[in-house]
This record gives sequence, C-alpha cells and structure tokens, in this order.
Amino acid sequence: MLIGAHVGVAGGYPQALEYAHQVGAECAQIFAKSPRQWHARNVDLAVADAFQAMRQDLAIAAVVTHTAYLINLGTMDPILRDKSIAALTDELQRAQLLGADAVITHIGTHGGTTTEETAARVASAIKIAFSSAGASTPRLLLENTAGAGTTFGNGPEEIGAVLDMLPETLRHRVGVCIDSCHAHAAGHDLSSASGWVSLMDAIDKHCGIGVIGAVHANDSMFACGERKDRHAWIGDGTIGYEGFLGMFCEPRLRDVAAFTEMPGEIPIKDVENIARLKRLRDVCEEHA
Ligand SMILES: [Zn+2]
Ligand SMILES: [Zn+2]
Repeated sequence: MLIGAHVGVAGGYPQALEYAHQVGAECAQIFAKSPRQWHARNVDLAVADAFQAMRQDLAIAAVVTHTAYLINLGTMDPILRDKSIAALTDELQRAQLLGADAVITHIGTHGGTTTEETAARVASAIKIAFSSAGASTPRLLLENTAGAGTTFGNGPEEIGAVLDMLPETLRHRVGVCIDSCHAHAAGHDLSSASGWVSLMDAIDKHCGIGVIGAVHANDSMFACGERKDRHAWIGDGTIGYEGFLGMFCEPRLRDVAAFTEMPGEIPIKDVENIARLKRLRDVCEEHA
C-alpha cells in the first residue's frame, strides 16, 4: 500500500505536494476547490501544469481529489440535485486538469426512500455528470459513510446497489473508497485482521472484485457500531494498531493508496500518523 495524507491547498497547489513530500507522504489527497462552496474560480492552467510537474519531481505516486461536502447525489430535491450534478461535473474536470488519478465523493442522502430508489437516482446523477464532463476524466470513487442520519453509502451493499445500476460503459470509471473510521463506526469491526477480511469479502460480493481505488486510513474515536464519524490518530482509537496491521496484511489492498485525514496541528499530525502507518506496513512485510 502507498501511504499518504489529505493535504491543504491554501498555500497553493504545487506547495501542497511539497508539504506532502516533507511529511513523508507517498501519495496525496487534496480538495480541488473549497469543499464548503458551490462555486470557485477555474483551475489556472499554469498552476495545474506546475502541480503536475511538482508531482513528477517529487515522485508522488498517487494523487486524488475529494469533492465538496455540499454534493448530494441522492437528494429528492430537484434544485439540489441539479446543483450537485453540475458540481460533480466540475469536480471531475478540475481533477482531470490537475492530473489526478481519482475523485472521491460522498454519495449524499436517501431522503427516506428505499436503497433501490436512492441507488437509481445516484447512478443517473453520476451518468449525467460523466457525460457532461467528457471521456477522459479520472475515475470516481464512492466513499462509505459512518451511517449517521439519512446518509447513503453505509457499507458495501448500498454502494454496490449504485454500481449495479450504472450502465456497463461506466462500470470501470466508478469504484469505491473505503474510510476505515466510517466502516468501523457503521458496524464493520476493523480492530482485527478478520474484520478486514470480512469487509473485503462484502465488497467483493456487493461491489465487485478490484473496485477499491483508495482507503481513508483513519482510526475511530468512538466504538464500532456507534455511527459517529470522529477520526482518531492511528493506534489511538478503537481500531488500534492491531486493526491497521490487518489492513496492511490484507492482500486485496496491496496496490491501493491510503490517505490519513487527521485532526490536529500540521505538520506533526501528518508526520506522526504517516510514520505510524509505515511502521505497521514494515511489520506486515517482515512477516510476509
Ligand atoms: Zn470523505
Ligand atoms: Zn470521516
């Protein structure tokens, strides 16, 4: 697995990769625009080029973007739906200009409708966004939620229901991002290797083989099944070192990039969490 972090772009896009390199990240996740606003200036093409050149220079092996939190592909509200589709289209195009490998998005809410009905709305929203964004955008990865409130994507079954409703031509362009804190909070106990095996089995079954494009490697402040999305530093939460050792030892995740999204002060939170993950990866490789 590659190990990296979510890094801020407030100081500039190329500078975000310099920061990533300094804290020991092998891969980086960024927001392509402000995550709490619908609109933003276009990506400056010179900045996008500088970002891609910096990535080459620093040999950052994977770069992903995370979409704005406002996007809701499951909503029943037609105005919010249209805004969300336009915003997803824009995110796909921004990621393409930045040369990102994938775009990670939260799915949205179910609005009290069935899994099948919600999945159909989400799949059609994704289809429209892809057809507006063009044929050469990066892959879209649907992130699992912690299962709070009316959020949709609470585990492999709901995400799989969306994937099942995509047209065949789009199947290879949409995958899954697994957030370990969210999965644990939603009831998949990831504090041991066997928990990872059963989560991967469920993903294989409901979403398909090889669909995982990224992992958000976050420990959880709350207990398994509490449906509370509060990230803890690696080893300090209820997933713990044993759990993340299980993640590294899961062969189906070997070629996947992992990104931490941690609370706390930069750079120490990233330096420390990346170092902890690298030590666990080393332990796993020694036993392989
Ligand atoms: Zn996310
Ligand atoms: Zn979270």
